[in-house]
Amino acid sequence: MSLGIYIQVPFCQTKCTYCNFHTGVVTRDRYQPYVEAVCREIEKSGAVPHAPVDTVYVGGGTPSLLDPAHLAKIMDTLRASFRAELLEATLEADPETITPAKAAEWVAAGFNRISLGSQSFDDRELQAAGRMHRRADIFGAVESLRAAGIRNISLDLIAGLPHQTPESWERSVDELLRIRPEHVSVYMLEIDEGSRLGRESLAGGSRYSARSIPDDDTIADFYETARQRLASAGYEHYEISNWGLPGHRSRHNLKYWLREPYLGFGAGAHSFDGMMRWANAHDPARYVACIEQGSSPGEQFEGLTPMQVLDEELFLGLRLLEGVDFARIEREFTPEFPARMASLRERIERLQSLGFLEREGSRIRLAPDRLTVSNEVFVQLLG
Ligand code: SF4
Repeated sequence: MSLGIYIQVPFCQTKCTYCNFHTGVVTRDRYQPYVEAVCREIEKSGAVPHAPVDTVYVGGGTPSLLDPAHLAKIMDTLRASFRAELLEATLEADPETITPAKAAEWVAAGFNRISLGSQSFDDRELQAAGRMHRRADIFGAVESLRAAGIRNISLDLIAGLPHQTPESWERSVDELLRIRPEHVSVYMLEIDEGSRLGRESLAGGSRYSARSIPDDDTIADFYETARQRLASAGYEHYEISNWGLPGHRSRHNLKYWLREPYLGFGAGAHSFDGMMRWANAHDPARYVACIEQGSSPGEQFEGLTPMQVLDEELFLGLRLLEGVDFARIEREFTPEFPARMASLRERIERLQSLGFLEREGSRIRLAPDRLTVSNEVFVQLLG
């Protein structure tokens, strides 16, 4: 089975109000030592025999902030260290960081897919969320990428940003469809303690326009509107948050949901070899120090028990609209966990009778009109 490689670049220009990722704003002089450390980590890993690599995803953070020469160095190091037969090489980019010259250098470095953090086409929403780009930047970025020869662009939208209304959401979906990217992600805003906006909203405060966040039902309506409009426009809905024109599903991200192996390099990057999961130190300074001292940046190692594998097969596999082959899961796990499988069968039947799950032959899947409550369904199924 081919391997995916993920490279984490945890730097941003500013911190968006809703962001709950481990990213930070640092001075540009920190970029080069970080890139050197990532390349050393790649070289060290590549010294051990691995399966061929067919996908690379450079994400963050805002990797497009790096000098294109840094990104080219990472790609060169990958090709020199692994057997790389790259079908998909994605770079995450923020619209305001893209110039025609940078886009051309990314293509020369080997990137063939750009995931553009568009989020919204409404300038008021973008400003309130602390984004650096505006609507016009998205159109300019797409033009530069197309001119450079990029034929695979992913755009994303966030449903639930402060000030979002049914009209502004419709306009954002309209504009996105006008661009007609090959791939689309639609995320629902997460309100949790991990972001400034989430904390403010939970505390009932008004900073970051927290009181202008649409309510949950409205956010769910936004998602449903997008789902219907994308389907009418020919996009295949293949994962809860992801759509692609035919032939443009994200090969790399599919590995996560199908539990295929991937290696992550950089601060906070996660890896999975089929039996074990591990993650690097989150703090970039600590990560660089570990690499420079020749020690492993890996911090959390978790060998999966068969029961954990069973749970993962379900909650990751059910994120895919095609669902999971439950007959295969039964064959594989019933001999070892007969009681657990009996309980799962009962729960599946109950969720099916309530309309949350559907069954077709041996496959079970989330009902398409219940995707907005997928987390609750997973809790009911596995909790
Ligand atoms: S949302 Fe993206 S660009 Fe904004 S701070 Fe988070 S990682 Fe950076």
